[in-house]
Amino acid sequence: MASYYNENTVLYLNGAFVKASEAKMDYYSQSFHYGYSVFEGIRSYKTVNGETKIFKAVEHYDRLKISAQSLNLPYEWLTQELIDITYELLAKNNLQNAYIRPVVYAPANMSFNLNTESFLVIEVWEMGAFLGDKLLRVMTSSFQRPNPKGFKIHAKAAGHYVNSILASQEAKGLGFDEALLTDMNGNVAEGPGANLFYEKDGKLFTPSLGNILPGITRATVLELCDELNIPVVEKTIVKEEVYGADAAFFCGTAAEVIGFESYDNKSFALKWENTVSKLIQDAYKNLIVENKEALVDEVIGVE
Ligand code: PMP
Repeated sequence: MASYYNENTVLYLNGAFVKASEAKMDYYSQSFHYGYSVFEGIRSYKTVNGETKIFKAVEHYDRLKISAQSLNLPYEWLTQELIDITYELLAKNNLQNAYIRPVVYAPANMSFNLNTESFLVIEVWEMGAFLGDKLLRVMTSSFQRPNPKGFKIHAKAAGHYVNSILASQEAKGLGFDEALLTDMNGNVAEGPGANLFYEKDGKLFTPSLGNILPGITRATVLELCDELNIPVVEKTIVKEEVYGADAAFFCGTAAEVIGFESYDNKSFALKWENTVSKLIQDAYKNLIVENKEALVDEVIGVE
């Protein structure tokens, strides 16, 4: 099993920095029993100037608040306060390239009733590239994403991830690297922990919001498309379109931008190196480490 902390690791728990090995939570928590908590997945990077920078910190902590409020979890924290705490936590743990995991959870409560308070833990651990630089072999999952009429699908709620775990385990069990899930209507939705884009004739396409998590990396890719003058369309997508694509990629905080080698064992028309998707991948890599000169070169290179 992976190890996320050692005897020196510190986490932030309900107003205090405490040793991870000594931190306690209530086993009667409504969150533990029913998957009723919300969380974020954030990354920090060592920038080209050597500084530690939390990427899209405001967007992530704002989404944590939206997720909590969507699930009726009391939420009193300010985004800036949590960003400051997170920088302090990274420094205490001597981390620059890290994954940051805040979780807002409920007190002891075996009923389904509302709570009057919530708790917050923030954990950090070292993280390099997640899915790696290699291309992914992806399959259509037999699992669909949760029905937005049954869940607050725009919220990053712990319980939703049972669906992600089932899909990812199925794909890996069948020898693939990752799953791509459809929505309740059978249209292409997203990966277990990442959003999808595909490329056709120099243009990018991605599923519209509504049945997917509104990814912060997805929004960043849309911004990069704008800066690089790459046309991009948000729409309903069927899997046959992805079969006929020039390229496809997943994007997410942990996954970053990672290309597909194949989808349902079908390969793509273009080599990854020759796609605009690869330009987006390079631009994203430069953005997260604030390599501004390289970013300017890319804009000039494309125009
Ligand atoms: N979809 C799902 C289901 C996810 O868990 C994630 C990861 N948070 C994403 C998409 C990508 O979101 P983001 O770019 O904000 O990390």
